[in-house]
Amino acid sequence: MNTNIPYLDLKAQMRPLRAEIDAVIAHTLDNCSFCLGPDVAQFEKDFAAFCGAQHAVAMNSGTSALHVAMILAGVGPGDEVITTPYTFIATSWAISYVGAKPVYVDIEDATFNLDPKLVERAITPRTKAILPVHLYGHPCELDALLALAHKYNLPLIEDAAQAHGATYRGKSVGTFGQTACFSFYPAKNLGAAGEGGALVTNDAALAARARALREHGSTKRYHHDELGFNYRMEGLQGAVLGVKLKHLAAWAEGRRRVARRYAELLAGTPLRLPREAEGCASAWHLYTVRSDRRDALKAHLDANGIGNAVHYPMPLHLQKAYAHLGHRAGDFPHAERAAHEVLSLPMFPELTDAQIQRVATVVGEFFAK
Ligand SMILES: *Cc1c(COP(=O)(O)O)cnc(C)c1O
Repeated sequence: MNTNIPYLDLKAQMRPLRAEIDAVIAHTLDNCSFCLGPDVAQFEKDFAAFCGAQHAVAMNSGTSALHVAMILAGVGPGDEVITTPYTFIATSWAISYVGAKPVYVDIEDATFNLDPKLVERAITPRTKAILPVHLYGHPCELDALLALAHKYNLPLIEDAAQAHGATYRGKSVGTFGQTACFSFYPAKNLGAAGEGGALVTNDAALAARARALREHGSTKRYHHDELGFNYRMEGLQGAVLGVKLKHLAAWAEGRRRVARRYAELLAGTPLRLPREAEGCASAWHLYTVRSDRRDALKAHLDANGIGNAVHYPMPLHLQKAYAHLGHRAGDFPHAERAAHEVLSLPMFPELTDAQIQRVATVVGEFFAK
């Protein structure tokens, strides 16, 4: 018997959907709606409804959606955007793409998310927006961040790339800020058969401008109102995402089951386990534990065929690409400590109870040694 447990099993997700996905792909090949088109338009309606938002604008990636969100927020050269140093780097790229400067603020130890208590002192006359991330699917502290955004008249943009369906005080993330950005990269909670992303907003004018920006800055063919991009979603991706979206709520429930089970089975270990903050329901994109013996634990899991990953080994302020910001080790101690301690365990909705128990057994053996 193969007791190896993958970190993520996309094939297990595809198997039961395969016939339906084959059919929508064949349909797209028949009607030749390859860029945007009716399936993308329908997916936009359905995804907006899933989020409880008015508009979703489908794009070719979450990174593109973030770039467009920065333009919509009026961020430009010389401006500053307050954000987290502990995320996937695309969050910061978006700020850099418009010529602005990412201003990092350290994270909270408990949730890995931007610490609102540290945001206020980072605000300067050049600050143009606040860009927090719902990291690992756990909502950031939206009440406190929105209060600051309101006080200083700054737009809040949510990076919800990992948080499809997460809720904060009963409301879906993606509906709190001026705009929110989602990714449909295959490994995300809702994944395309390739790249994909969406910008979500309740503002009709912003949605209309986002639609123009993703299509070369035009609303009328060959008439270009501003510098635009080719950020269109492919028709095939819209068709596939339409099929998968119908399962997203059930998958979220599956992830919750896995997280609950890990919490029970790992409670007796020295690991620091992820927990939902009050008023928050995580999308459980990742199940990320902490240990000061992380590297040894990782080696033990590797040796026993248990998939795992480090999200993320290096905070953004220490990345070579951001050396020009002049940061050094010690600037953001919580982010730096997280980078040394985090380890993500297998997390996907199809994990069986036997697999979860096996992961817990292998982890238990490590600490018993
Ligand atoms: C995946 C991700 C992105 C980028 O999304 P892509 O679709 O891969 O471009 C941005 N931010 C975060 C936090 C992500 O996890």
